Amino acid sequence: MKEITIPYGRQTIDELDIEAVTNVLRSNWLTTGPAVSTFENGVKNYVGVNHGVAVSSGTAALHCAMKAIGIGKGDEVIVPTMTFAATANAVVFEGGTPVFADVDPDTLLIDEASVESLITPKTKAVVAVDFAGQPCDYGTLRRLADERGIVLVSDACHALGAEYDGRKVGALADITLFSFHPVKHITTGEGGMAVTADKTYADTMFRFRNHGITSDFRDREEKGSWYYEMVDLGYNYRISDLQCALGTAQLSRLDEFIKRRQQIAHIYDRHFAAWENVTPLTVKSSTTRHAFHLYVVKLSGGLRERDEVFRYLRKRGIGVNLHYIPVHLHPFYKKRFGYDHGLCPSAEDAYKTILTLPVFPGLSDNDVETVVSSLKDYVK
Ligand SMILES: *Cc1c(COP(=O)(O)O)cnc(C)c1O
Repeated sequence: MKEITIPYGRQTIDELDIEAVTNVLRSNWLTTGPAVSTFENGVKNYVGVNHGVAVSSGTAALHCAMKAIGIGKGDEVIVPTMTFAATANAVVFEGGTPVFADVDPDTLLIDEASVESLITPKTKAVVAVDFAGQPCDYGTLRRLADERGIVLVSDACHALGAEYDGRKVGALADITLFSFHPVKHITTGEGGMAVTADKTYADTMFRFRNHGITSDFRDREEKGSWYYEMVDLGYNYRISDLQCALGTAQLSRLDEFIKRRQQIAHIYDRHFAAWENVTPLTVKSSTTRHAFHLYVVKLSGGLRERDEVFRYLRKRGIGVNLHYIPVHLHPFYKKRFGYDHGLCPSAEDAYKTILTLPVFPGLSDNDVETVVSSLKDYVK
């Protein structure tokens, strides 16, 4: 296997990031210290909501959200099948049943008509996934959720910094989750955050990340007290100060990172506009800011051809990828819930033809041209 010279995504780290982390190493607090709330404040102010709960991963943030909204046995939560498995797994963690919605074939965003058709008296929530960095139709989803009395959660792990009709993702759903994995917009190594305007949700999530305990170590140190109460079953989903200091340093460059992602997407767009067999996902007019976590194209032809293109580009050192295998087709979901082929036809069709091309802030124009010309050699 040839070494991948152009990955599909990677972090951008500079000297200020390194300095921020080493400053924490010289301080008194490696975890539950002041860098955690500084990072929480930074992200919540950036998106414009009152509460941010930083945790150890995007998956932990999803789990916190399911806990906060009270998902339990017998509850149904509607999730798009075109997502990372963690979106649905979080529902299962709390004993709920994920019900898979199909997606729009042009955008791969959750299809509101599919959501509406799946609502039953057992439905407690819908999780919107801002696929590739494009916000879902939050206007329609909000109306639907309010009319039917269900909670709207946003898995915005692809969409930190994106805007829907001029409004930032993070302030559009009841709870919104972000991931800070190295391929995402900003990184903490591993990490995630849940943001919400609802104090009750936030309080539940703060406890849930810390064993269900009502105060943390620093609170008790500062109050000179040893007393605490565990009021609920929780986990250790804490994130360290080392990670949060990196997150705060990264956040100051988020807008710059997104601008570069958009430039790269526009270079791809300009090329593919003239190609017949490579079609980028549609960008809707309501998407006033696309965060381009991913640049996904659809190839005309079937699975065989896509797999050949995939192997051809990988052989040339280009880290193409595939987002995603529809979640309902994974063996776990087939076995546990009896889901199978035919459940979400648009997502299953798209799965046969999609390919993710490299996009990250450190990708040079030259690298983008290399990706394009390699793809051209094959498909033209
Ligand atoms: C990355 C991602 C997650 C999980 O985030 P981690 O930080 O890796 O746990 C969840 N959902 C989506 C859509 C993601 O892209």
